[in-house]
Amino acid sequence: MKILLIEDDALLLNGLQKALEQQQYCCDIARSLSEARRYTLDDYDLIILDLGLPDGDGLTLLKQWRQQGCSQPVLILTARDSLDDRVKGLDQGADDYLIKPFALAELQARVRALMRRRFEKAENALQSGALKLDMNLNQVWLHEQELTLTRMEYAILRRLMLHAGKTVQRERLQQDLYDWNDEIGSNTLEVYIHHLRRKLGSESIRTIRGEGYRLEAKSE
Ligand code: CA
Repeated sequence: MKILLIEDDALLLNGLQKALEQQQYCCDIARSLSEARRYTLDDYDLIILDLGLPDGDGLTLLKQWRQQGCSQPVLILTARDSLDDRVKGLDQGADDYLIKPFALAELQARVRALMRRRFEKAENALQSGALKLDMNLNQVWLHEQELTLTRMEYAILRRLMLHAGKTVQRERLQQDLYDWNDEIGSNTLEVYIHHLRRKLGSESIRTIRGEGYRLEAKSE
């Protein structure tokens, strides 16, 4: 899963990035409104937006996005803690907010909550047949046996499990991995899928020619 992080405070940015990578999310970073405008929002599952940016107010950007029909969840980070400001942020289309200073563990929990909502999941644990993935612990089990996955394999499997039974486009999966492997070749994804199939069983992931991959949805 991929997050666009818009924050100008270098120290905080560093902490945020580490906290999010710990949860196996890929992050792209913008330090101002103008930098943020260069990104294609469709590429992201979540946007984290600081309000006090060097070239203006994050709320201006949020308002524009919502007017353009952007539906990505937005988590606001703000030092403004007046009721008015919070109400204004939510009314302009924010899904949640955190008041600085905040604990990184709380940020991680709120991000998980927003992701669950985005993918219409009630829990952090995803299940498909004998396969179980915990988005909080970042662990995977098959028939109750814990699997050892690389973070690339984990990121791919989490995306496929969020959409179990549906085809996930190759481009989407490649976007998820992009930051971790800047030179991701078109074959690399196939290699990871191949490794996943070895661990999960050859029938687990179907190749949909010309489109992408699908995790077969099974209920036990
Ligand atoms: Ca700021």
